[in-house]
Amino acid sequence: MNENLHTDRPTFVTHLECSMTGERYEADRLQGLSRAGRPLLVRYDLAGVKAAVDRDAIAARPTDLWRWRELLPVRRTENIVSLGEIETPLVPIPRSSGGNVLVKDEGRLPTGSFKARGLVMAVAMARELGVTRIAMPTNGNAGAALAAYAARCGIETIILCPEETPEVNVREIAAHGARVYRVNGQIDDCGAIVGRGAAEGRWSDFSTLKEPYRIEGKKTMGLELAAQFGWELPDAIFYPTGGGTGLIGMWKAFDELEKLGWIGARRPRMYAVQASGCAPIVRAFEAGEEHAERWEDAATVAAGIRVPKAVGDFLILRAVRESGGQALAVGDPEILAAVDDAAKRDGLLMCPEGGATLAAYRHALRDGVVDEEERVVLFNCATGLKYPMPPATNSLDRHQPIDVAAL
Ligand SMILES: *Cc1c(COP(=O)(O)O)cnc(C)c1O
Repeated sequence: MNENLHTDRPTFVTHLECSMTGERYEADRLQGLSRAGRPLLVRYDLAGVKAAVDRDAIAARPTDLWRWRELLPVRRTENIVSLGEIETPLVPIPRSSGGNVLVKDEGRLPTGSFKARGLVMAVAMARELGVTRIAMPTNGNAGAALAAYAARCGIETIILCPEETPEVNVREIAAHGARVYRVNGQIDDCGAIVGRGAAEGRWSDFSTLKEPYRIEGKKTMGLELAAQFGWELPDAIFYPTGGGTGLIGMWKAFDELEKLGWIGARRPRMYAVQASGCAPIVRAFEAGEEHAERWEDAATVAAGIRVPKAVGDFLILRAVRESGGQALAVGDPEILAAVDDAAKRDGLLMCPEGGATLAAYRHALRDGVVDEEERVVLFNCATGLKYPMPPATNSLDRHQPIDVAAL
């Protein structure tokens, strides 16, 4: 029995706040974007949290996502639908990285990706707020996580994927009983259809950052890193950036931890990594813009970061700039070479998005943006097993003579 899931703990949400204007919104009722069309952020009574629990008490709890309960929005424990959201390990990859690198391997989470962190929270809150039908656009992993958690509590799901979504993702979503459709367009084209149905009252729109709670789940990556680094933080984080929910969430987590007095003011430099075939954040970063324009004709093997337009663009750019980091683009050939290298030389099979962070790290090392002594975390956000692999076609005919020395 995991005491984190069987102990009621006090909760501290005070309100939601527009990430652009600071306007306040009521918690404990269903909310989408703010009136300004921007993501809503969950705010807590951090003084209350501080009085209720200290970091040593958290550290003494079982090491899963739910140990952070006082910093999470779910009020009633009975609404938590858990599939076992473990703390993910930090795996060194010295040979393929050539530096002091740890990979936070999110592929160990339920449904094989870190989308589980966000969706376990969004679904718990959906239950808490009485939602019975959810629709969502996805490049694959988010849809699988939503479908899995929703299946556990009888919430209906309608999932729209771009036509190039990997087959395994579409089948996984269907396997969990969701109604899944391929759409001949990109993820934002799918999002537009979801938005239309939501406007007609047919379902709730759980697009990333369009409901406030997914980011709270993703925030736990930052909380975990702080605990895993002994209440310090690494020097740099390389994050494969699509909608940017995880990067924005970690940045929020660091802020909350500092307000609690659990960490100091030092922050990692945040590197938002994109594929050169879809790099709207990189383009905006380099141009000094606050918002990113849509990227036309997006194409990359790293499906999870094929996001032409992100609703939280300004939050990603703000965090990257405040941290002293950068937005970096890497090409598909380098991404695939990095995946291949980490698999062959360090035994870690990463997803292409994870490979992108390794490729970007290698560039950064070469260009002197990071030095090899610095403690760096790369995010591998899904298990490499969910992605197509190069064919392996050798075979043996056991009825013929076999030259074992030649194998
Ligand atoms: C969704 C996804 C990403 C991008 O995450 P965001 O927080 O939405 O930017 C990266 N990698 C994988 C494998 C994903 O599924």
